[in-house]
Amino acid sequence: METFKTPRNKLALTYLTIIMVLSVGFSILFYNQTAHVAQAGFRRQARQLRNNIYFVAPGSIERMRDEGINRFNDNVLSRLVLLNTGMLIVGGFLSYYLAKRSLEPMEEALAAQSRFTSDAAHELRTPLTVMKSEIEVGLRSKALKGSETKEILQSNLEEIAKLETLTEALLRLAKNSHQPDQSSWTKVRITNILEAAVERVAPQAAKQNITFELPASSKVSVRADYDQLVELFVILLENAVKYGKDASVVKVTALQNESMVVVSVDDKGIGIAKKDLPHIFDRFYRADQSRNKSESSGYGLGLSVAEAIVKSHEGTITATGKPGVGSTFTVTLNK
Ligand code: ADP
Repeated sequence: METFKTPRNKLALTYLTIIMVLSVGFSILFYNQTAHVAQAGFRRQARQLRNNIYFVAPGSIERMRDEGINRFNDNVLSRLVLLNTGMLIVGGFLSYYLAKRSLEPMEEALAAQSRFTSDAAHELRTPLTVMKSEIEVGLRSKALKGSETKEILQSNLEEIAKLETLTEALLRLAKNSHQPDQSSWTKVRITNILEAAVERVAPQAAKQNITFELPASSKVSVRADYDQLVELFVILLENAVKYGKDASVVKVTALQNESMVVVSVDDKGIGIAKKDLPHIFDRFYRADQSRNKSESSGYGLGLSVAEAIVKSHEGTITATGKPGVGSTFTVTLNK
């Protein structure tokens, strides 16, 4: 009995109730109207008969009239009962199908949400476990030296930094998953955005001797949230550096037509395997190649944030890449 009370069945039952209330309601209305019209017709016929036929047993015309009315009403009633039974069966199937169709997107969203929560919890737990065990070992040691304490604190600090990065990424993701707030959109020049983004990734790029080739200062502009677009290109440029080849050039191009602007970020790094391409925008997804690249830290959330920003601007983001050759990320935005 409990299993019957699933949201899908409850919704199907609601749909069926609506269908049947409408169907039975219309049937009653129809029955009353036809009975009324039929009664008037039979009475008129009986009156005409009485006026034209003289030798007839008293009351027989009225009997015939009432029998006619009753037969007609029974006939209409039985057809309506049949129609409503059919409606109940067809409506039942239809309601179940409709309930399934309407709940599917919600069920998928809920499943994705719970997957995301468990992934996030898992990622949060790892640094916490490391910190906990280091502190426990330190506390158990009877003669803990100052240098050892410092070492523990240093390591804890690193884990805290990881937690900070992760929570920031989670917050950015939550912020960008909402409906776009177009009130903060202004006309922004792509070159200004790229320059601001390059400034943020320059220190890491310099360490790897990576340089950027930006589009010549041009008037290519879009209507967008300035800070969010800077964040979007910081993510793409950071990745181009993180997964790039030392002493290489990251090339950014910007093209436009009447309605759209296309910006591409092209690197000569480790590239992306064909099997990873469909998943790199998924939350917490990291290609094996990048996991193994010891110096490249990350939680696999950057591209999810990038995609959320692009979507909130009603644009698209795509990636192409070849292992060992490089990757290209292309963002298309409305003007
Ligand atoms: P993170 O960089 O933190 O791992 P992202 O969401 O930014 O997370 O990227 C997801 C994955 O996509 C990365 O782990 C990496 O495997 C792949 N990727 C992203 N950008 C590039 C790039 N420019 N070159 C090669 N692989 C990339």
